[in-house]
Amino acid sequence: MEEPKLSDDVFEQIKNFDHRKLTEEQILLIDKLILNEELKECYKKNGLCKECKQPKNSSNWCQCKFQQNFKNWTSGNIEVDEFIQKSQLKAKNYVKILEWIEYDRFENVEYLAKGGFGTIYKAIWKDGYILVLKCLHNSQDITAEFLREIELHIVVGDSLSVINCHGITKDPESNNFMIVMTYAQNGSLRQYLNKSFNSMSWKEKLSILQMTAYGLNNIHRERLIHRDFHCGNILSEIQGISITDLGLCRPANAKPSQDEYKKIYGVLPYIAPEVLRGKEYTQESDIYGFGIIAYEVCTGLPPYHNIAHDKILTISISIELYEKLDGLYRDLIRSSSEQEIEKQIIEADKINEKLTTTSSLYTGATLSYVTNPQAFYTSRLLDFKNLPEPKNAIDNKDDSFGEYSESIESIDFTKLNIDKSN
Ligand SMILES: [Zn+2]
Repeated sequence: MEEPKLSDDVFEQIKNFDHRKLTEEQILLIDKLILNEELKECYKKNGLCKECKQPKNSSNWCQCKFQQNFKNWTSGNIEVDEFIQKSQLKAKNYVKILEWIEYDRFENVEYLAKGGFGTIYKAIWKDGYILVLKCLHNSQDITAEFLREIELHIVVGDSLSVINCHGITKDPESNNFMIVMTYAQNGSLRQYLNKSFNSMSWKEKLSILQMTAYGLNNIHRERLIHRDFHCGNILSEIQGISITDLGLCRPANAKPSQDEYKKIYGVLPYIAPEVLRGKEYTQESDIYGFGIIAYEVCTGLPPYHNIAHDKILTISISIELYEKLDGLYRDLIRSSSEQEIEKQIIEADKINEKLTTTSSLYTGATLSYVTNPQAFYTSRLLDFKNLPEPKNAIDNKDDSFGEYSESIESIDFTKLNIDKSN
């Protein structure tokens, strides 16, 4: 579709107006002449570019500057070129501008980590910044998936809480395209907790959770579902928390293909019980993941770290925990929520009292715990077929809250609670 443009005639009529100090008469004329709402908004906010005779997308630059430069670079792939060009023509602020960056603009490229879907490198951009290069596995043939992930970063990335994407580059040796992103100094939230948990204040822990919730809310506000929300996909920076890895992110109303529907990717402990039982991912499933992250930030320990992430755990989460959460939900609805919260605070205080603060876990400079060799914290394809069906929690009249708090401990929290055995 042709982008809406101002005609030369309209330009002539309004070129001498000061967009910041329009008279009432001028405003009426503008409303009459510029019918496209987006163009009108750009004009009122940023004024006109005398060179291309169009409203500017930003007060700091005109998109025509990028356009003039299009002939000076190419990624070697038309799809990628057009994708970058489009981002430059549409960008309304710096965060949304993508660049094609030649690989030789990077030096000291250093391997950082391998995730479920790609490998992460750290590199110095010769213009002075340290950045991260994310190489998606098998991206020689640029796929829609690769570009979609970048696009999602642009859509939700103008907040501090979702990691920024600066551009695209290509490793000349492997021919893999790479996403160029902001480097998070403290690594993932998981790495940060390992290193710093024992010296973190409650204020800091709560602030981490607040920023994480804020970022997830930004994703949800765009009607998206993250679908792979875990502590390894949250990055810790000096100024805060940024969510990354939007590769599996999908619009909330997207109907996945049958094949895709059946596949569950992710890190088992963070996947909501109903998803493990074959239901679709929803924004609520992301929020379940947030709940697990909240637990992790409060205790410092990875969820279910000392047991194998296998079919038995999947059944525990998808059947037992599902039933108990369902029961809790019904109890919450039955009782007034304020009373319930108070009850939970008393309950939490009791549990905290039992925790010994002298535990070696929490007294060292860094957290030290042993992870089960069968506990996996990078995203993978989870293939647990034929899980047993849960019994219907609605019929379970004895499912009182008191029982809930005891039994949830027995399947979940005590497993994480190393201190209790001391
Ligand atoms: Zn211009």
